[in-house]
Amino acid sequence: DQVRITRALLSVSDKTGLVDFARALSERGVDLVSTGGTHRALSEAGLPVTEVADLTGFPEMMDGRVKTLHPAVHGGLLAVRDNPEHQAALAAHGIGAIDLLVVNLYPFEATIAAGRAYDDCIENIDVGGPAMIRAAAKNHADVAVVTDVSDYADLLAELAARHGALGGATRRRLAQAAYARTAAYDAAIANWLAGRIEARGTPAFRAFGGSLAQGLRYGENPHQSAAFYRAPGLVRAGVASARQVQGKDLSYNNFNDTDAAYECVAEFDPSRTAAVAIIKHANPCGVAEGHSLLQAYERALACDPTSAFGGIVALNRPLDAEAARRIVEIFTEVIIAPDASEEAVAIVAAKKNLRLLLAGGLPDPRSPGETVRSLSGGLLVQGRDNAVVDDMPLTVVTKRAPTEAESADLRFAYRVAKHVKSNAIVYAKAGATVGIGAGQMSRVDSSRIAAWKAAEAARSLGLSESLAQGAVVASDAFFPFADGLMAAAEAGATAVIQPGGSMRDDAVIAAADAAGLAMVFTGHRHFRH
Ligand code: 5GP
Repeated sequence: DQVRITRALLSVSDKTGLVDFARALSERGVDLVSTGGTHRALSEAGLPVTEVADLTGFPEMMDGRVKTLHPAVHGGLLAVRDNPEHQAALAAHGIGAIDLLVVNLYPFEATIAAGRAYDDCIENIDVGGPAMIRAAAKNHADVAVVTDVSDYADLLAELAARHGALGGATRRRLAQAAYARTAAYDAAIANWLAGRIEARGTPAFRAFGGSLAQGLRYGENPHQSAAFYRAPGLVRAGVASARQVQGKDLSYNNFNDTDAAYECVAEFDPSRTAAVAIIKHANPCGVAEGHSLLQAYERALACDPTSAFGGIVALNRPLDAEAARRIVEIFTEVIIAPDASEEAVAIVAAKKNLRLLLAGGLPDPRSPGETVRSLSGGLLVQGRDNAVVDDMPLTVVTKRAPTEAESADLRFAYRVAKHVKSNAIVYAKAGATVGIGAGQMSRVDSSRIAAWKAAEAARSLGLSESLAQGAVVASDAFFPFADGLMAAAEAGATAVIQPGGSMRDDAVIAAADAAGLAMVFTGHRHFRH
């Protein structure tokens, strides 16, 4: 898997370390070829070096726009060494193979950062450099490509260790870095141009490499422009893969909320139970399991019927007629499901504006992947939260262990808490949420709100006792003090699930024991901001 380096093409704008690197190559017997400025630097240092113009038979022209764009260069980079036809082509056209390409690009990023004139920036878009880099990187089976000055030293060390050759793993790593470099380079050009054009109501293409799926009328607010981009190589079922059967175009907020709804309901294995999540402002206002989708919907709705108005409804099984009939009775923005029966589609059709999305499947909550969010001037990227409570070792920390029914509800509540904005407190009973506290800056406030919502829900159902009575409670992160836990106990919760790990766990456990609560620790936090 080694490639002996006998001929190198060097074409660099940043000439840092160039002469030393090239001298070391030359001393190893490597033939050097280079473009105008690089050639000058090397000859001035007394190194033997051929000019690319002598290879191509063409002078560099058009202010350097055309230097290396020639078969004598690209044939030498792209020829497959053990392919007889490629070798015959090299011989027939007198092209010499190139096994090492050393290129760094025109300083486009530095030029725009310096605030230079438009034409200057354009002139600093490298064309031949990226073309060579991509060619050499594609042919990394036979060619090594160096795009970063800081790699020179390691390469010389490897060449010394391998007696003038480079290994396959190194060439693959260099090829990956090369494509990352050209991708970043083009993204910089695209973003710079984006700042210079009016993009009819939508922000211009951004750097994450997605494709524009849909321009949106506006963003979170009417004065913000917006668009929806589909990630490249998308494989997961979800909002981005969904087919919209009917209804108005989705808005920015619809996309965001529908995604939250579908990711939440996908936590429930459809072969085990039907499940429904109702979402408002990206937070669940009711989630429930049921024997049927209709039952699950009724139970989810009962948690907070006021908030469910104008919500997003996500289902984990194909929408059926009886569920559709019930859902359309309430003003709903979007329904999303893996599929729908013909009858259900016909029922939804009666509500012209109601959007119906069929995703063709459910996203796997355990699948890896990335989430991206922007902050000013950058992107924050993290692996998605693919931790699932069923995979967590639950530790009972109180004197009383949860009953079987409590255990099932604790898991249910934790599954939901993962999809509630922090600080998240979720009360649940018999596979349905009965009170959700979301997005508060203090956990005790979320606890109080969740308890209050449970009491409100009871009132709206004409019940005298809060729905929190006999419920379990989940917290997405540890209780830093006993107060949040006590608020839950006072509201009537009998069992608690939380990650644990607070400095004051002992005090929190003692308070739970004193209140007769059963408590389990998951060891996994589910922050969501
Ligand atoms: P030099 O300083 O050696 O004259 O030029 C080196 C720079 O030219 C490198 O940044 C390299 O990427 C770039 N380059 C090499 N070939 C071409 C080409 O055919 N067209 C353009 N625009 N740039 C090239």
